[in-house]
Order: sequence, then structure tokens, then C-alpha cells
Amino acid sequence: MMKLLDPFSVVLMAALMCAVMSMVLFGARRSFPAELRGIGHWSAAMLVQVVSVIGFALRGTLPDAVLLPVANVLFVIGNGLCMIGLQRFYGVASGWKMLGGAAGFALAGMLYFLLVYPDYAARVAWMALPMTVLNGTLLGLVWRHGRPKLATWFFGGLIALNTVLMAVRGVLALTHGAAVVDVTRPGAFQSVYLAATALQPALLALGFLMVANERLRLLLERRSASDPLTGVLNRRGFGEVYTREVARMARQRQRSRSLALLSVDLDFFKKINDHHGHAEGDRVLVNVAKMIESVLRESDVVARFGGEEFNVLLPETDLKRALAVAGRVQTLLREACTGDMPSCTASIGVSVQTDPAEGLQPLLGRADEALYQAKKNGRDRVETWQEAAWQVF
Ligand code: GH3
Ligand code: MG
Ligand code: MG
Repeated sequence: MMKLLDPFSVVLMAALMCAVMSMVLFGARRSFPAELRGIGHWSAAMLVQVVSVIGFALRGTLPDAVLLPVANVLFVIGNGLCMIGLQRFYGVASGWKMLGGAAGFALAGMLYFLLVYPDYAARVAWMALPMTVLNGTLLGLVWRHGRPKLATWFFGGLIALNTVLMAVRGVLALTHGAAVVDVTRPGAFQSVYLAATALQPALLALGFLMVANERLRLLLERRSASDPLTGVLNRRGFGEVYTREVARMARQRQRSRSLALLSVDLDFFKKINDHHGHAEGDRVLVNVAKMIESVLRESDVVARFGGEEFNVLLPETDLKRALAVAGRVQTLLREACTGDMPSCTASIGVSVQTDPAEGLQPLLGRADEALYQAKKNGRDRVETWQEAAWQVF
């Protein structure tokens, strides 16, 4: 059984797996959206690991004094690139200085304990320090920024194992000397360490890919529910929130339960496009979306189904508050016109739903009718759908 784990084959297998993972990650980097950062660094990290591992495999063919410092420093750099990749992925500052420090530390120790004071156990203990620090940093990143998902647990668990293994190896080298940590000698810890270190880089990359996939799923979900121009919800996202809110309303027992909808349509928007250009029109739409959001509370949502009309859903809201929100939107728009935004006003139709059995279409239809009234009555005003108002009170 020990023969199966002869160091040379294990190390070659590790190199092969890292090469495959590097290619997989490279493919992911090209096909995943650019918002998912750090994947390229992981791809590069795996490539560096390949070179490092091949370096270890070449032992005996080149002088140790050349091979070992290079292979070990590359090993540190590979782990450091994983750290940078993860930092970019989670959107925190990249620790290039830390990587440089770890690599320099490894190089100095390697050269000293090879050329000045040759000592295998001292080299192992020395190398364990930067490796433990880098892996510990990875662990901290996952702990602080990871979402509690299976992929994160798998990834974090692997990093934790790796960190412990690095630290234990360093301590064993100090306490027990070369006999226990020398991977070329048979032994339980050596075999576990060899198998684990051979598998670790590729497994870690797999864990990272799983976490990136999870993020991709979230991103696409969000994208499919939002309007690309303004970033607010689109029709689909709005429908989902509406369904959720109506279900919540149905569970409530109070008689006063109601939700409200505002249809906000910009007045004479065509003129803004005609006078200032379509791009400026787009900018106004983005600003208006922000302005509407700024007057809403946490549970309210705004959506743009297209065009220059916004729909606002106000859960647990009666007509009185709906009118107050509509008024605030209009005030903000008027104030904004004095700034760098072209003059722009809005007409707003308000409708209210009190019966959870009623659907979104009738609610939208009523708001639309009220909006039509607002346009007819001179624009820049708020109208309610009257019969809906009678139902509320
Ligand atoms: P009213 O007061 O009756 O609402 O007049 P209006 O000009 O706002 O309404 P109308 O429906 O006649 O024209 C809407 C304009 O909105 C036409 C179109 O060029 C513009 N529009 C629709 N979608 C977009 C968009 O995504 N970007 C820009 N810049 N303009 C848009
Ligand atoms: Mg309009
Ligand atoms: Mg319109």
C-alpha cells in the first residue's frame, strides 16, 4: 500500500491535476461575467503550482541548491496568488506586499538552510510559517465574506484542513526532526501529508470554482430580475415581489390590510430626448429611478418595465401613505430640475389592493387608468382610482 504513494508518482499526479484545473479556471475566466473577479489569478496560481511541483519531481537531476529554493518559492507564490484571487473575488484590497514578503521569507530561509547551515527539518519548519499565514489568510477571507452555502463550507473546510496540516508539519519538524516530516521516507504522517498536499491545490481550485459558480447563479438571478439601464427591478422581478407580498397580506388577519401601487410616468419625456439626446434621456431615467428609491422604505420596491414609466409597489400601505409617497417623488423631481438635470415632471396614478385574491393585472390596470386621468387633467399631478379609494374606506 505504501508503494502506491511513492512520492514521484504522487507529485506528477498533482502536477497533472493542477494543469487541468488551471485550464478549467482559464475557461471559466473567459466565460464568466467580468464582475466575478479573481478567477484569472486562480488559473495562474495553478500554473505556478504545476511548475513548482515539477521542480520537486526533478530532485536529483539538478542541484538541490537551485531546485529547492525555486520550487519552494513558487509554491509560496502559487498559494499567494490564490489569496490575491480570493481577495479580488470578495472585493477587498489585494495583499501583494504580503505575497512578496512570504516569497522573500521563504527564499531567505531556503538559501540559509541549504547553503549556510544545511538542515532539512529547519527548512520544513521555516517554510511552514509563510504557508500557514497565507492559508490562514484565505480562511479568514472565507470566514468573513463567504455566504453560508454548501460550496463555501466545502471550500472553507479544505482551506482549514490545509492550514492545520501546514502548521502541524512545521511543529513536527521542530519537535521530531526530519524523520517524521521527510516525505521521501515511509511513515503515516508523511503519507497523509504527501497525499493531502498533492490533492490540495486542485481541490482548493475546485472549491473556489464551486463558490464562484454559486456567485454566478446569484448574479444571473439578479440580472434576470432587473432592468439593465437603471438597475431597478424589471417586470419579472416586480411580479415575484408582488406575489410574495400578496401572500404575506393573505396571511395577515387585520381588516385594514392593503398594498398600494404607483404608476409614475414622466411628462413630455420625448421632448427631453429630442432636445438633449437619447443618452441624456437615459441619464434622466437612471436619476429618476434613484430618486424614487430614495423616498421608499426598505420593503417598498420600484420597477421599470421599459419606456419612461416606473411602477412602485408599497406593501402594507394604505391610500394615505401612497399619496404621501407620490407627493414626495414629485417634490424631489421638481427640486432636481434646478440642478444639472433637464426639467422634468411626472404624472402619477395610484391604486390600492385590499383583497389578496385579486391579481397584479387589475391593480396595474387601475393605476394605469388613474395615470391616464392625471395626464388628462394637465400632468405633473397625482390621481387615484376613485372606486378603489371607496373600497379602502
Ligand atoms: P406624456 O407626458 O404623454 O407621457 O409624453 P411623453 O413624451 O413622455 O410620452 P410618449 O409615450 O409619447 O413618449 C415616451 C418617450 O420615451 C418616447 C421614447 O423616445 C422615450 N423612451 C422610452 N424608453 C426610453 C429609454 O429607454 N431611453 C430613453 N432615452 N428614452 C426612452
Ligand atoms: Mg411620458
Ligand atoms: Mg409612457
